[in-house]
Amino acid sequence: MAHDHDHNDPPSDTVLRVKALESLLVEKGLVDPETLDTLVDRFENRIGPQNGKAVVAKAWRDPDYKARLLEDGTKAVAELGYSGAGGETIVAVENTDRVHNMVVCTLCSCYPWPVLGLPPVWYKSAPYRARAVREPRKVLEEFGTHIPADVEVRVWDSTAETRYLVIPKPPLGSEGMSEEQLKELISRDSMIGVRLAGAGQPNTGGAS
Ligand code: FE
Repeated sequence: MAHDHDHNDPPSDTVLRVKALESLLVEKGLVDPETLDTLVDRFENRIGPQNGKAVVAKAWRDPDYKARLLEDGTKAVAELGYSGAGGETIVAVENTDRVHNMVVCTLCSCYPWPVLGLPPVWYKSAPYRARAVREPRKVLEEFGTHIPADVEVRVWDSTAETRYLVIPKPPLGSEGMSEEQLKELISRDSMIGVRLAGAGQPNTGGAS
C-alpha cells in the first residue's frame, strides 16, 4: 500500500532510543529478544484489534449493547473484559449513512490500547496527524475510502484521557452473520475510521 510508505518518517529519536535500549538489555542478558518479539506481537496482533472486533461485532448484533457502548464506552468495553492502561476513557462513535468518524491524535499517538492494541506506524506519523484534521477526505481517499459528499466527516482528536473507537457501518449482506463471521469483516483500520468494514484488512499482518 503506497500510503503506508508515503506517510512513514525516518526513524524518530524515540525509535532510535528504544532500539539502543533494546540492544543494551539484550546484550546484558536482561531481556530475551524472543520474549520481546512475542510481547510486541501480542499487543499488535492478538490483544490488539481482536478485542475491538469483538466489541464491534457485539454492537452490530445487539442493539442494547450498542446503546450502552455509545453511552459509556469504557463501561461497555469492560463488560467484555477489556480494560487497563490506555483505556481509562473510551468513547465509541458510530458511523452511519450521514456521519463518518475518523480518529487521530494530533499531539502524539494516543490510542485505545485495550481494544486496538498498539497503533500502526502511520497513525503516529506527522503527516497523518496533521492531514487527518486539515484534509480528512483526501487522507481517506488515500486509504481507498471514498466518503460521499453528503456524508459528514467528523475527526476526533484523541488525548491521553479520552480515546476513541469507531463503530464502522456493518457491510451490506452481513445481516444474518454470526459474531464470529462479523469479526472477519472488521479491520483495525475500520475501527480507526480510515477504512470501511468489509473493505479488506490489508494491515492485519503487522504494524504496517
Ligand atoms: Fe497522543
